[in-house]
Amino acid sequence: MGGAFSLGRIFGIQFRIHYSWFIIFVLVTVSLSLQYFPYAYPEWSAPTYWLTGIATSLLFFTSVVTHELAHSLVGRANGIPVRSITLFIFGGVAHMTREATRHGAEFRMALAGPLASLVIGGLFFLFHLLLQGVSEPVAALAFWLAQINVVLALFNLIPGFPLDGGRVFRSLLWRFSGNYQRATRVAFEVGRGVGYLFIAGGIILMFIYPGRWFNGLWLAFIGLFLTYVATASYRQARWQAALMGVKVADVMTANCPVISPEMTISRVVQDYIFLGGCQCFMVTAERELKGILTLQNIKSVDRKAWDTAAVGEVMTPVERLKAVQPDDEVLSVIEQMEEYGISQMPVASEGRIIGLIDRDNVLRILYTRSRLGV
Ligand SMILES: [Zn+2]
Repeated sequence: MGGAFSLGRIFGIQFRIHYSWFIIFVLVTVSLSLQYFPYAYPEWSAPTYWLTGIATSLLFFTSVVTHELAHSLVGRANGIPVRSITLFIFGGVAHMTREATRHGAEFRMALAGPLASLVIGGLFFLFHLLLQGVSEPVAALAFWLAQINVVLALFNLIPGFPLDGGRVFRSLLWRFSGNYQRATRVAFEVGRGVGYLFIAGGIILMFIYPGRWFNGLWLAFIGLFLTYVATASYRQARWQAALMGVKVADVMTANCPVISPEMTISRVVQDYIFLGGCQCFMVTAERELKGILTLQNIKSVDRKAWDTAAVGEVMTPVERLKAVQPDDEVLSVIEQMEEYGISQMPVASEGRIIGLIDRDNVLRILYTRSRLGV
């Protein structure tokens, strides 16, 4: 997710805030301070409304982070590493480095979040009861937080993928059918269905209660978001399943010719690509690797400049490359590429570059394989 900045680490997990989060933070704070509290407690002063509103809003987002942290820590204990947690307009999301490979791990990880929200909700309700006679604003804050955490738990338990409930649902389907692919497909269909229901519900709400059109619009937006993430995460899950067990050696481009950085692009294209059919090149000077050149690099140069552009200016320099091993998992290599924002990595064995792995090439091989059904 772009447009997010890091706030540091909690338990070794990077914690990030997306800019869209500020919109929802302001909306929640304003609606609490100007609507909810004044309506429920008409005798408070204006500063009390605002202070309570801001404190409630901050604690609400702390609750959301705790929910995601519960997923992350349980995930980690079950062998699913979580890299970061991002807060954005629709809540929080934990970024796993990969999907669960066992249904038990997915079940526990998915359930941890809603359970944490229920526990937090229960604790706030307890505070509410304890503080009722002591401080009305604090008791009111605790009551709202108790409610919202229960709502959060219940919303997340809706059995549509990729909501937590959808993941629980998938892990159960997976457990009883033994078929990960089919379980994912069914959970995804239900997830998209839930999204459509939210959209329809939101539109109906806008017509029934025109005065509260915003609630309907918000519900429809959540529905739109749910259908979108269901489709995106289904695509990702399928792509990850296709890559499971594939090694770098299976998809790398071997035998990349060695060329010099001074060579022009048109020479490379003429002599090596058109005539030799090569896809990748190792650029070396004085027997030292300076970088790699791929078709992607060449495509980024305007065709008119091919006669003058030198390989050394167009290649991906060695500093931007991180070598991988031939028996590395392609899935983790692709994740590293995403993390570093690169699309090629040299493959090294015993200190020697033996080939190149290229993102687009991996995609093409997978596509060909799926068409051949192998
Ligand atoms: Zn969750």
